[in-house]
Amino acid sequence: MPEDGKTPGRMGRAWAEVDLDALDHNAAALRALLPPGCQLMPAVKAEAYGHGAIPVARELNRLGVDDFCVATAEEGARLRRGGVRGDILVLGYTHPGDFPLLTRYDLVQTVVDGPFAGALEECGKPVRVHIGVDTGMRRLGFPAEEPGPIAGVFRRKNLRVEGVFTHLCAADTCLPRDRAFTLGQAEAFRRLIEELEGRGCAVGKTHLLSSYGLLNYPRLGGSYARVGIALYGEGSTRADTERWKDLLRPVLSVKARVASVRTLRPGEYAGYGLAFQAREETRIAALSIGYADGFPRSLSNGAGRVLLHGRGAPVVGRVCMDQTMVDVSHIPQARAGDAAVVIGSWGEETIRASETAEAAGTITNELLSRLGPRLERIPVRGQSFSGSL
Ligand SMILES: *Cc1c(COP(=O)(O)O)cnc(C)c1O
Repeated sequence: MPEDGKTPGRMGRAWAEVDLDALDHNAAALRALLPPGCQLMPAVKAEAYGHGAIPVARELNRLGVDDFCVATAEEGARLRRGGVRGDILVLGYTHPGDFPLLTRYDLVQTVVDGPFAGALEECGKPVRVHIGVDTGMRRLGFPAEEPGPIAGVFRRKNLRVEGVFTHLCAADTCLPRDRAFTLGQAEAFRRLIEELEGRGCAVGKTHLLSSYGLLNYPRLGGSYARVGIALYGEGSTRADTERWKDLLRPVLSVKARVASVRTLRPGEYAGYGLAFQAREETRIAALSIGYADGFPRSLSNGAGRVLLHGRGAPVVGRVCMDQTMVDVSHIPQARAGDAAVVIGSWGEETIRASETAEAAGTITNELLSRLGPRLERIPVRGQSFSGSL
């Protein structure tokens, strides 16, 4: 185990390593799948799914990616303050109080419906917009079957329409019902675009694919593929991650220091609520990571595991806010100061984010995007200092 006392604070307690080489690889792999005329528009919302939005977007800038999407105007503003270039599309609602951010930071705002278009018009300054269209998800956007109100947005004085887009909500499978629904969404979108062009509207960019759309339905085309989860090398589920394992590489690893190791005598308890009781002599390690860092409490009592010295160590008792205990009875080398791999590889063993997500009863997207701000994000290239010896 390389001892790493040299970088206190950075790799002191618990941290996330962001492998920029893996990100480059995934961007290239996804670019190779793009239909003609389509470009990547990476989704870097929620701190780039927990990876750190500014370093990720700046690396993508370096690779020639010039378009991004985020969830909120504040996220867009932060990217700009962090030196990110190119177009930044705000996918979600923005409160009128935040409209000044759109012009100050040259963001592109999604017009989510008619009343919103009216409010944005009232801000009195020209704003760049894309029009969000609902083709079946029933979340945000103008109904695709009514072109009138959409055409109306093009006539608004302060709204500079640069694109029209929709979101597929069942593209993660190719099962018959989902496939029929997805193709129906795409067809409704295509008809709308045709209708708007027929009315003389300059629609600009059109886009509908996100990660699963690009991977499962690349022929649906468009100007952009708004890729999030796939860019980070994961599928939403363990099965999908497995399916794409030859195409995509995981970008993020999470590591946590072993703070302390102790041995329980048979019958002794460990943790809150006496949730664990040792049946035999049991060696446990206390890790410096907890649910406040995004290691879900649902991984308690053996549901989750970490890696130490290339072997799995299951969670003992309840995950705490700042600590987690794991069973290291079978890992005699384990000692205080070790960097346990919470997500990532150590030797032959790997824990993918999708495995941990499944164990926690959720999808990879949620697990990654909830990784907490206490984990410092450390950009690395290729294999990092620890994890695989
Ligand atoms: C988050 C988001 C995306 C990216 O989705 P992934 O499945 O992670 O690729 C694309 N489009 C919209 C509208 C989104 O909200």
